[in-house]
Amino acid sequence: MKSRTRRFKTDHPTYAADIVGTIGQWDERDILFARSDFWDYFDADSPQRAAYYESHPELFAYDEKVNNLPPMGRTGGIDFPMFDVQFDVINHIGCENVVDGKPAPDRIEIAPERAAEKVKGFAHHLGADLVGIGPLRQEWVYSHVGRSLGNREGYTEWGTPIDLSHHPNAIALGFRMDYDLTQTAPDFPTLLATGKGYATGAWVSVQLAAYIRALGYSARAHHLRNYRVLCVPVAVDCGLGELSRAGFLITKELGLGLRLAVVTTDLPLIHDQPVDIGVQSFCEVCKVCAEVCPIGAIPHGDKAEYNGVKKWKLDEQKCYRYWFAAGTDCGTCMAACPWTKPDTAFHRTIATLASIKGLHQSILTRADRLVYGKYKSKPRPGYMESK
Ligand code: SF4
Ligand code: SF4
Repeated sequence: MKSRTRRFKTDHPTYAADIVGTIGQWDERDILFARSDFWDYFDADSPQRAAYYESHPELFAYDEKVNNLPPMGRTGGIDFPMFDVQFDVINHIGCENVVDGKPAPDRIEIAPERAAEKVKGFAHHLGADLVGIGPLRQEWVYSHVGRSLGNREGYTEWGTPIDLSHHPNAIALGFRMDYDLTQTAPDFPTLLATGKGYATGAWVSVQLAAYIRALGYSARAHHLRNYRVLCVPVAVDCGLGELSRAGFLITKELGLGLRLAVVTTDLPLIHDQPVDIGVQSFCEVCKVCAEVCPIGAIPHGDKAEYNGVKKWKLDEQKCYRYWFAAGTDCGTCMAACPWTKPDTAFHRTIATLASIKGLHQSILTRADRLVYGKYKSKPRPGYMESK
């Protein structure tokens, strides 16, 4: 997919204006998915689980309640395996010896401009819809491994400290989610769009990292089952888009309807500039995601300071709890966002207009409500069982 953000390039990512303190590194052990692994993969009496809740007793009641709710995907009935098999494959290609490895002994020298061209071309060939290159800020690197699938063979042990200081560059990869499936959110088919986005991200990122290692450089893939970095801020630094009110990345091309993977490397690469596509002022007046969120997890009000940055802070615990209630990863905010639209000439024009800051952004949000009405979940495609 051709990037349509050239005219919106800027010297600093838009979050830079909102930095009000020191940004601390995240510990992956604290994220909701890592905590769910205590129920999904570790034994109930595992020393890791005991040690974690001894130091975080305030999280136990929430984690125990949520992780004992009926499982994700159950609303698919006999179509449940369509969801399950995609994630199973991602587990296989999340092993350490697949996402990482030794570089080839003989390094091939390539000018950074040419290397960037090759990396982007190959990533698109493999299936990435969006590709951007930027610096890897160490603030976006997790401090410790939190997802080891219960210390499964092939995965790095839970709690291992992370060091990526030898990788100065990041390649952010964006993968379009199937528009029709996402429009069924929060129903079962949206999970399949998520699964495909992540599976393609895993498939592309491991091959891209392997390609760079074959050139004689260190490179590591970061995808759903084996991250060492926070993909969203990395993608912002790489010029893919901006942080939104909904808490995810908005891109001009795909709105909120994408999934991310990243490759970090020491291969010298020319960086793309970050972009200012008007999201901060647009989200200020839009608020559609906050209105449609069934559980009130997205703020209606102003940005607030969180870990050194002023941002619209998604209430992740509320959101995650709703996922179990819905039996899917919900995605209603993503489906309803005015930026998440099919790739047509009409929407490309509107997205360009929306990217220019001004009073007309408010008119565009109102026009979107008038034309599309209140968000309503669409029916399942014919090859799936109906509800
Ligand atoms: S995914 Fe659903 S529950 Fe979570 S923030 Fe979006 S709309 Fe709300
Ligand atoms: S729905 Fe509106 S407020 Fe929410 S992320 Fe999209 S543009 Fe921003």
